[in-house]
Formats: sequence, structure tokens, C-alpha cells
Amino acid sequence: RAKSAGGNRYEVADAEADARAITRHGLTTALPAALDRGEFFIEYQPLVHLGDGTVRGAEALVRWLHPQHGVIGPDRFIPLAERTGLIVPLGRWVLEQSVRQARDWQERHGGTGAAGPLRVNVNLSPCQLTHPGLVQDTVDILERAGLEPDALCLEVTESALIGADDDLLKPLRRLSEMGVDIALDDFGTGYSNLANLRRLPVRVLKLDRSFTQSMQQFPADPVDLKIVEGIVSLAHSLDLAVTVEGVETGAQAEQLRILGCDTAQGWYYARPGPPDRLHELALVDATG
Ligand code: C2E
Ligand code: MG
Ligand code: MG
Ligand code: MG
Repeated sequence: RAKSAGGNRYEVADAEADARAITRHGLTTALPAALDRGEFFIEYQPLVHLGDGTVRGAEALVRWLHPQHGVIGPDRFIPLAERTGLIVPLGRWVLEQSVRQARDWQERHGGTGAAGPLRVNVNLSPCQLTHPGLVQDTVDILERAGLEPDALCLEVTESALIGADDDLLKPLRRLSEMGVDIALDDFGTGYSNLANLRRLPVRVLKLDRSFTQSMQQFPADPVDLKIVEGIVSLAHSLDLAVTVEGVETGAQAEQLRILGCDTAQGWYYARPGPPDRLHELALVDATG
């Protein structure tokens, strides 16, 4: 019996692996047409200032509304798009939509309020960094939308910049000189080379969710507290702002505020949602 059960399990696992491979293959081949057919959409998750609780902007997070499989998250298709090169046109599309959306929020919002004009964060994949059109595309997109460069923040993962030479940093430097902010995403997960930070044209560190998770208890693990405290103080001494990801509870938010983090993002404030949601959340801030 045990043997046959084991055999069945093997077959089931095998069938699942096959199904996954087929899906992966199916998704990969469907990607280019999906862009043409407009199957991608963007959700926006608010970025909240920890000091005063105001909404300062949002991170753009792409999704795929697949005609058969429903909504597919970026973790499943971004790696495929990176492998096939579709990430370049897809990334450009996300950037253009997000920049236009930010301009739209600013217009409807009056661009006023104590918190200043709403801003937008857009993720960049390593393939986009090495693509020669990045700087010019970004300039064109900002100009077409009429958005100030300082309302845009491009998020690059720490691992994408590990051992980055000057050729890779050049486009980021140029964007940074124009006023576009660069954020180091998922910070603290890779081989964080803290000394390397000085060399990078980065304005914001986005502390990875794993740090936020360890703040679940109040007070949190003393070692993690020390680590976050150290990162924040180093960041601030280098004139970098610190954003925390994955804040799910009020206790986490309070702990991270006490530790000196500047901005937070997470389900505690809002899940990623449609663009009008952000507008409403920001409006609540501005009026009351
Ligand atoms: P990321 O840039 O680190 O984005 C944060 C992820 O954490 C998002 O997952 C977000 O939905 C999720 N999240 C936010 N708050 C919470 C929370 O309180 N708890 C938990 N458990 N999760 C939270 P999502 O939307 O699935 O995106 C995953 C990753 O896909 C992103 O990680 C980013 O690396 C990538 N991605 C998303 N959109 C784009 C894009 O347009 N271009 C590129 N190149 N990558 C993208
Ligand atoms: Mg990000
Ligand atoms: Mg992140
Ligand atoms: Mg992440």
C-alpha cells in the first residue's frame, strides 16, 4: 500500500511539474500578444510618511489579466519577460502609464497640500538598466506627460547593482542628475555592501519586507532592532531616505517610526489597488 501510495504521489508531483512547465511555456509565448492586446494593468500601493501619516505617492505594480488564468502576479511573469526581452517594451509601457497617472493625480489633487505633489515609484528590471534607450525614453515620457522628474522614483534591486561598473551606473547617474530619484529595492537581502552605497546614485533605501516581518512583536527582536537602527543611521548620514516595505500591523509601523524610518508601504495602509483609490486616500489626507 505504502509503495503504491508513494508511486501515486510521484506521478502526481510529476504531473504538476509538467503542468507548471507547460504553463510557463504557455505564458512565455503568450506574453508579446498580451502587451499588444492590452492585458496588462497597473495597481498602485500608497507610500505613507511615517511622521505625519500623509500619502506621498505610490508604487506602480504591474499585473496580467490573462484571458484563461485570470490575474497573474508579476513574480510569475516578470522573470519570463526578462528572459525573452519583452521586459523592455513592457517596462516602458509601465513607466509611461505610471508617469501619466502621477500627472493625473497631481492635476486632480491640485498639486498642493502640506505633503506636496504626489509622486510615483516604478520598478526597473536589470535588463532595462542595460538597455541603451533608458535615459532618452524616460526623458520623453516625462516630457509628454508634463511631469517633473522629481515626481518620479525608479526602483532598482540591490542585487542588480552588485559589482556594477561605471557603464551600468552612467544612465542612473544621468537620471539622478535630472532629478529622478533612484531607490535601492529589497535592501538588506543581498550581500549589502554598505561601503558601496556612497558610489551609487541612490536617494532612497527600501528596506526589505523581512525586516518588517521581524518587527511583528512589540518590542521586536533586539538584534533586528539594532540592525535596522544601524541601517537607518547610516542611510541618514549619507543623506538617503529609508522606506519600509510590507508593513502589515500598526505595531510594526510604530516600531519602524521610532527607529527613524521615513516612509512606509504595506497592507496596514492599503493593498495595491486601482489608481482612483490612491487619489481618494490622498484626498482624505489633504482635507481632513
Ligand atoms: P517589490 O518591488 O519589492 O514590490 C513589493 C511587493 O510586496 C509587491 O508584490 C506588493 O504587492 C507586496 N506587498 C506590499 N505590501 C505588502 C504587505 O504588507 N505584505 C506582503 N506580504 N506583501 C506586500 P507584487 O505586486 O506581487 O510584486 C512583486 C515584485 O514584482 C515586485 O517586488 C517587483 O520586484 C516586481 N514588479 C512589479 N511590478 C513590476 C514592474 O512594472 N516592472 C518590474 N521590472 N518589476 C515589477
Ligand atoms: Mg519595488
Ligand atoms: Mg521591494
Ligand atoms: Mg520585494
